[in-house]
Amino acid sequence: MSDRWKRKLIQVILLVLLLVSVGECYAWGFFAHRRINRQAVFSLPPEMFGFFKYHIDYITDNAINPDRRRYAVLGEAEKHYIDVEAYGDSALYKLPRYWHQALEVYEESHLRAHGIGPWNVYHVKLQLTNAFLKKDKKAILRLAADLGHYIADMHVPLHTTQNYNGQLTNQHGIHAFWESRIPELLVDEYDFFVGQAMYIERPQLAIWSAVEGAHAALDSVLRFERELTARFDKDKKFTYEERGGINTRLHSRPFTLAYHELLDGQVERQMRAAIKLVADFWYTAWIDAGQPVLGDLLDIKEQLPEEKFDTKDPLPVREHEGLVLSLNALNWRKGREDIG
Ligand SMILES: [Zn+2]
Repeated sequence: MSDRWKRKLIQVILLVLLLVSVGECYAWGFFAHRRINRQAVFSLPPEMFGFFKYHIDYITDNAINPDRRRYAVLGEAEKHYIDVEAYGDSALYKLPRYWHQALEVYEESHLRAHGIGPWNVYHVKLQLTNAFLKKDKKAILRLAADLGHYIADMHVPLHTTQNYNGQLTNQHGIHAFWESRIPELLVDEYDFFVGQAMYIERPQLAIWSAVEGAHAALDSVLRFERELTARFDKDKKFTYEERGGINTRLHSRPFTLAYHELLDGQVERQMRAAIKLVADFWYTAWIDAGQPVLGDLLDIKEQLPEEKFDTKDPLPVREHEGLVLSLNALNWRKGREDIG
């Protein structure tokens, strides 16, 4: 085999590995993101419910697009988090809730470097309002799915910190543990009935209060894992399961259940809060657009937008989720650099 073909083969193998892992492990896990978007549909009022229910599979499946986009679109990754500690003591009280005010205080590059999650949520809400105004069916669905993702991310404590994967406290892998492993194991016990969507007077303040709640929960997320690890039999903390054809190390069921007990329903609470706020934001965007009749959009026989991602050269963005993707993305880049 010529060197050129060997290189091609290596590229293909790495790409397959990357795609497999992209599909398997995830932020709010792919699983929770899909569930949050899907469940939010059931909180909508009758005037919106018909349209959203009709497209519920689209809203569900595309809940994970923003995470896939992180590796393909420059400027995407920073929309998924905010490093609260980057702003010093009492950051959550000091940080400007409005983007234009933030720009008066900080350089835009500084803001982007530490994540623009909450400001981005409001930006996407405005876009969704605009899509409702134009009754642009494709844009409504795409933006509603995106907005659901971004709002859900702001409910994950580890999306509000520089220590996003426990890497600063020797708790590597805690991100996927909290937001993927726990809900995957326990979702059947969760109660997702969150009531009717409500209009939000000041969406900017609402998303920031979600961030405050998530960040306040961060201490328990890290502390309980550390305490539990200290008193848990080392051999019993992890287990191996096949995921997407790859033997993957996961937190064991007993460890997960013990952690869940300590957290006293925290993951469920955060998921419920996310579902409610997603529905509230969709509803608010629709009200702000003058409550357009959505029923007539059902007749439009248009292909729904399918987003294509260029995964040939993944961007070296922050990895929240865990080892598999990080390693593959690293190998992939290294492979490319070695090749030149
Ligand atoms: Zn995300």
